[in-house]
Amino acid sequence: MTQEKPTILVTGGAGYIGSHAVLALQQAGYSVVILDNLVYGHRDLVEMVLKAELIVGDTNDRALLDQIFASRAIAAVMHFSAYAYVGESVQDPAKYYRNNVVGTLTLLEAMVAASVKRFVFSSTCATYGEPQTIPIPEDHPQSPVNPYGASKLMVEQMLRDFDHAYGLKSVYFRYFNAAGASPNGLLGEDHNPETHLIPLVLQTALGAREAISVFGTDYPTPDGTCIRDYIHVSDLADAHVLGLEYLLKGGNTDVFNLGNGNGFSVREVIEAACEVTGREIAVVECDRRPGDPPMLVGSSEKARRVLGWQPQYTDMKEIITHAWQWHQGRHG
Ligand code: UDP
Repeated sequence: MTQEKPTILVTGGAGYIGSHAVLALQQAGYSVVILDNLVYGHRDLVEMVLKAELIVGDTNDRALLDQIFASRAIAAVMHFSAYAYVGESVQDPAKYYRNNVVGTLTLLEAMVAASVKRFVFSSTCATYGEPQTIPIPEDHPQSPVNPYGASKLMVEQMLRDFDHAYGLKSVYFRYFNAAGASPNGLLGEDHNPETHLIPLVLQTALGAREAISVFGTDYPTPDGTCIRDYIHVSDLADAHVLGLEYLLKGGNTDVFNLGNGNGFSVREVIEAACEVTGREIAVVECDRRPGDPPMLVGSSEKARRVLGWQPQYTDMKEIITHAWQWHQGRHG
């Protein structure tokens, strides 16, 4: 007889990365309960595609959290709900500290009170700040240059302290640039407002935008544009399931970078999109965007070694093909 797998609470499961993680959990046989305030998440995704239980609410709502933990046998929490616009975090840091830090603290306190002691957390390469070495390893100094990165770094610190004091075990992942969409075409990236390169390039290919702005062509990189490490969202989701299973088997608190290991320049992304879509994509060369380092590429060797993670979609054209499928279905 196969043993039934436990129930996982996924906060932010109606968002881009969270929804892919819910799908990966379901495919691995877990039951999922989603907590999402739907500020940026999509109800239709949960109801029509994932068909998971959705609780609409906030991680700052301690009474709701207590009620969720009291009424269900939750084995672990995957925590995706966070605000993630770097520019907005500079303009309105209070919003970021309240949601990303205080909301997470409230969630962690509720977990400790309910004796739920396994936590998988979305951190970010933005906690590193300006890279001193490439590829960036996990023990690279952390010196975030915006409140978004700082809010995630504060949570990392809380997680180490919560392990020490309360025995709450966590895996936290520092993502590089999440990209792409589920290969089955059902889930994808739908931010409002959209600020990310690949969706903007594809919206341009679809004619929804006149041109893609290239932010800076005078960087010290081979073609003058910024280089980033784009990691397929389904590969990110798989890593979360592996991180969860590592904790369920008794693993200790640890941190892992999640990236592709290869960098792609803005021009390379646009070229790949032209090839995949077969369309002209108009480009406007603009000034640098403040705060963008020339190159961010991570080493994910530790996740491969310790968790056995094997990213499947490391080719830029494949990442864009999946994203294109989704965008055509959505807006085409
Ligand atoms: N970028 C760009 N034009 C855009 C959006 C982004 O040239 O309209 C560049 C941006 O400067 C960065 C890269 O594309 O070098 C990836 O940016 P994105 O916002 O997707 O992710 P980030 O690296 O900021 O997390």
